Amino acid sequence: MVDTAHQNTAVEGVEGGIGVTALLVAAARAIETHRPDSLARDPYAEHFVLAAPPSAKWPLRTEHVPDGDANPLWGRFARYFGLRTRVLDDFLLQSVHTGGARQVVLLGAGLDSRAFRLDWPAGCVIFEMDREGVLAFKHKVLDGIQATPKAARVALPMDLRGDWAAALTDAGFDPAAPTVWLAEGLLFYLPAAAETCLIDTVDRLSAGGSALAYEVKLEKDLLEYRDSPLYTATRDQIGIDLLSLFDGEPRPDSAGDLASRNWTTSIRTPFEFTHRHGRGPLPEQNDALAGNRWVFANKSPS
Ligand code: SAM
Repeated sequence: MVDTAHQNTAVEGVEGGIGVTALLVAAARAIETHRPDSLARDPYAEHFVLAAPPSAKWPLRTEHVPDGDANPLWGRFARYFGLRTRVLDDFLLQSVHTGGARQVVLLGAGLDSRAFRLDWPAGCVIFEMDREGVLAFKHKVLDGIQATPKAARVALPMDLRGDWAAALTDAGFDPAAPTVWLAEGLLFYLPAAAETCLIDTVDRLSAGGSALAYEVKLEKDLLEYRDSPLYTATRDQIGIDLLSLFDGEPRPDSAGDLASRNWTTSIRTPFEFTHRHGRGPLPEQNDALAGNRWVFANKSPS
């Protein structure tokens, strides 16, 4: 079993602790890439999976999984990540192409390769923040395949539980210009106070016209779905006990917080996007995805 210690762990990279979750999402994106009805293509994802000892033997295609799509982890859960990738790709691209923002901040970027694979308008800067070891692994792999970003890219090794605003502005971020922010698969790993602080910082650094998307879990008791096939398959097949990595504290009402600060918010279930795209996970009994919400927020231009 991989190290599943929580945030206080000394494990900094992708080999265990919280960092290994970045590999899980990368593996799901690799699988999504090779599906004939793929929702998102990420050619970099499999390079990360193959390069890291914990994941080197994980499947990269559903054909490599004995029970294929019926496998809760590499079928339904991987498809969830594929759908999430697509929806948030669309959000980011729409925000820069139509909304006009030229700064993008990926909070808890992990092995997100959007800087390398999406078509960004001229003048775009992508800031990626994650823990040092995760970003070091990412760079080793990307350098090894001579990947070239499609926009200016600034990587900022950072513990997002602390105060990161000064590091971002020191790196060239301009709080007076509109920004697109993304916290994909991050907030439920942070203590509640760190989430509140992060949302406060995003608001403080956001000029009018900025946009934010993030993912949360609504359930009051995380253990409610502890026996769900997604959690048990992830633990039993690849040794990642997500429930031990999630923060167990009651979550703050970040959407309500933003609404009180001049942001309009829209809180969506993933299943709505499954219907929109004609593929993706649908609700089921004892569902670890039941409380998942994708929140989209826009700060009023004035
Ligand atoms: N957003 C990426 C994606 O969707 O592919 C990565 C998601 S992964 C599930 C969670 C990421 O959050 C990991 O890369 C982890 O290192 C990062 N993370 C968790 N806690 C963090 C913290 N306190 N500071 C910085 N990054 C953190």
